[in-house]
Amino acid sequence: MPGSSTKTRWGKTPWTIDFHPARRPLPEEVDFAVVGGGFTGLAAAAWLRRLAPLQSVALLEGASIGAGSSGHTGGVPLAETAAGDLPGLGDVLAGFSGVLRELGVECDLALPGAWELGRDGGLPNSPVAWADSGMLRVAREIPGGTLDPGKLVSGLARAAQESGALLFENARVEEIVFEEPLRVRVSGGQLRAQHVLIATNAESLELSGLASRAQPTFTLAVATEPLTAAQLEALGLSARKPFYTIDLPYLWGRLLATNGVIFGSGLVHLEDWRELAALDIAAGEAAELIASLERRVRGMHPILQSVQFTHRWGGPILIAEQWRPVFTRHARSSRVLVLGAYSGHGVALSVHLGRWAAEAMLGRRELPEWNRA
Ligand SMILES: Cc1cc2nc3c(=O)[nH]c(=O)nc-3n(C[C@H](O)[C@H](O)[C@H](O)COP(=O)(O)OP(=O)(O)OC[C@H]3O[C@@H](n4cnc5c(N)ncnc54)[C@H](O)[C@@H]3O)c2cc1C
Repeated sequence: MPGSSTKTRWGKTPWTIDFHPARRPLPEEVDFAVVGGGFTGLAAAAWLRRLAPLQSVALLEGASIGAGSSGHTGGVPLAETAAGDLPGLGDVLAGFSGVLRELGVECDLALPGAWELGRDGGLPNSPVAWADSGMLRVAREIPGGTLDPGKLVSGLARAAQESGALLFENARVEEIVFEEPLRVRVSGGQLRAQHVLIATNAESLELSGLASRAQPTFTLAVATEPLTAAQLEALGLSARKPFYTIDLPYLWGRLLATNGVIFGSGLVHLEDWRELAALDIAAGEAAELIASLERRVRGMHPILQSVQFTHRWGGPILIAEQWRPVFTRHARSSRVLVLGAYSGHGVALSVHLGRWAAEAMLGRRELPEWNRA
């Protein structure tokens, strides 16, 4: 069974999550149960209490807060979705920044823009020129930026707790029994809930009903030692803009506050989401992909030739049909919402849609048009 100890095999990130809720017994019944303590679940729980302070909210996280993608992400907030703009989506970065502002979450958010890099052409005055299966150059700039994912997870969790939501770690939801009210069976107990939000991303796909609709994979990243200002200038990164390629082989990255650089690439394909529990970035295909990413980075530019890597990690992403996020009602109950599957594009989107999920559960907003069920 996936749990916090197994997730340590997903490697070491350059940030930490410093929030853990106090242990307490599960309540017998709540108005809202949120399953999953990543960006989506935490934002939804905090927003539910903000809108409805008299209604009870319990967030049930199977491992520890941020143990999934959110603690193992890249930390590049982007506009739109992995499938581009969608009908009724709204302005994702404005929505995201607004939630953080209203909840008082501080996570070193900077939105200087992001670069799309390509191997053909690119801007004649491209600051970036890296040898990587051709010459990678800046093709265009899009909205986006960087943040500290550890601070975002911890800040959202603190905001949820301070608003009165009850947060539980090591509370893995094993089953939802579709009774009136809903019965949520948790490892070691159960509670009843009027409404449930399932925000479990790439795991528990039978619970979310996404097993046949979405593909879980695992993706990898490394971070370098801090570079000097002159080295960053030579690499073309002094503007501190994150980047990703628009052609293959895929590469994304960004600067850290320490002036180390994160580079990410590579997918471990999974037959079944349960393989995530045993996945170890120091062994097998994941270790090979990390070694090949490090070789690739060292070959991209003379500055990186003998750079040291200080952090190596990976995390799951869930890819649904046409790369579209899933935001729908559960097939067995309109009182159960399912939200997730952002592919590698969920940092800002998870919070923007987490707020929307809270509003929808309170009956104040319709679900989006792109996959209403
Ligand atoms: C290496 C990497 C780099 C990325 N880089 C970027 C990026 O730069 N920009 C971007 O926009 N996106 C990026 N992403 C994607 C982004 O991080 C995710 O889309 C986002 O974090 C998803 O948040 P979530 O809350 O939906 O899911 P998660 O954070 O995965 O949360 C789901 C939670 O549910 C819990 N859970 C699962 N099953 C149960 C259960 N049965 N009961 C209770 N709890 C359960 C899990 O333990 C987990 O904590 C990246 C992802 C990875 C892995």
